[in-house]
Amino acid sequence: MDRRDFLKSILTLAAFAPVSRISTAVAAPAAQDSPGKVSRRRYKDTDLTIPMLGYGMMRLPRLNGEIDIETVRKQVAIAMKHGVNYFDTAYFYHGGESENCAGEVLSQYPRSSYMLADKMPVSRARSAADVERIFNEQLKKCKVDYFDFYLLHALNAGTWKKAQRLKVYEFLKKKKDEGKIRHLGFSFHDTPEVLQKIANAHPWDFAQIQLNYLDWTIYRSREQYEILTKLGIPVIVMEPLRGGALATLNPQAREVFTRNAPDASVASWAFRYVGSLPNVLCILSGMTMTEHLTDNIKTFTNFKPLSPAERSVITTALNAYQKSGIILCTSCKYCLPCPVGVNIPENFSIYNNFKINGNRQRFDRSYARLGKKQQASSCVSCGLCKKKCPQKIDIPAMLKKVAAAKS
Ligand code: SF4
Ligand code: SF4
Repeated sequence: MDRRDFLKSILTLAAFAPVSRISTAVAAPAAQDSPGKVSRRRYKDTDLTIPMLGYGMMRLPRLNGEIDIETVRKQVAIAMKHGVNYFDTAYFYHGGESENCAGEVLSQYPRSSYMLADKMPVSRARSAADVERIFNEQLKKCKVDYFDFYLLHALNAGTWKKAQRLKVYEFLKKKKDEGKIRHLGFSFHDTPEVLQKIANAHPWDFAQIQLNYLDWTIYRSREQYEILTKLGIPVIVMEPLRGGALATLNPQAREVFTRNAPDASVASWAFRYVGSLPNVLCILSGMTMTEHLTDNIKTFTNFKPLSPAERSVITTALNAYQKSGIILCTSCKYCLPCPVGVNIPENFSIYNNFKINGNRQRFDRSYARLGKKQQASSCVSCGLCKKKCPQKIDIPAMLKKVAAAKS
């Protein structure tokens, strides 16, 4: 995207933002496109450029219950060839194996050819010494001596309080001064009011938020984006497809998209939506299937922001999707483990499929396959999971709905 296209995208964005004005504090200007590579954005006024598409390592391909490392190697080779050189892992992903996988696969490339983001699991750390132990362990697992981007993971009102008590920011700032972290930020799951407090507390280099066309209003992502933009904090986007839901939708919503652009994937609309926001630096996608990666590379090569007409197509599709009655779970699994063994995201996934395809027999079969212990009907409403859900889903109530749907 050249400068003229970029400026056009900002004007287009204004048409997309009728509720309140989007700040013009643009922190992520477009960089010059290279042929065959994904578009990049400049980090503030530096020479550093970041690919608009980042390789998320939370939902890696699996084989026989383990990370399928050979497929990851192949995907990383494709990604690197197309300029997708931003990789995002975390202590919790794949039970700690995502960091090992990042280390094993990325160490085959020159360190300066890729950017690695990792995160401090604030909820897991028990003491300041624990924070230091985890950080050192992460460097070792990832086989690096510095992180390009490092985040306090999943901040909310509770974890922020804990991070302050353990002086996590102060420790990580020291690591930044020592050159072990290049950019220091945080990922976030809570209300805009909490975000404002955290964003004001330190001179953050970036922040990672959940942003997509469904959450723009229902999760108040728009307010979050505006808070960060006004403070000049570049945004990294997680959940652009809301755990994959916006790649499939329901038949009615899908039909809206395919009628308007038969050759474009449903997912590409969601990626272009977030990419059209000028303060978005990078959009993370967990590309379990290689065809997801190649489709996303296509979307972000010579990236085209949405036109006003395309934005109204999204509004129409979104209306059709919201009528389906699905549960807005992203399958992040933060609510697990449940003390009695209920497989919360799987119950919601089965229910959502039923709401989308209306096939009751398939719902009954999938629900039975879960087994008694994992089924929604085993929930004893203890409420433990509800506190951990970043989407604020009333999990016990929704599980009752799932259990009641069984014929
Ligand atoms: S409310 Fe239900 S699903 Fe949630 S933790 Fe308790 S028993 Fe498990
Ligand atoms: S219910 Fe909430 S915490 Fe659990 S998987 Fe879904 S979105 Fe994540």
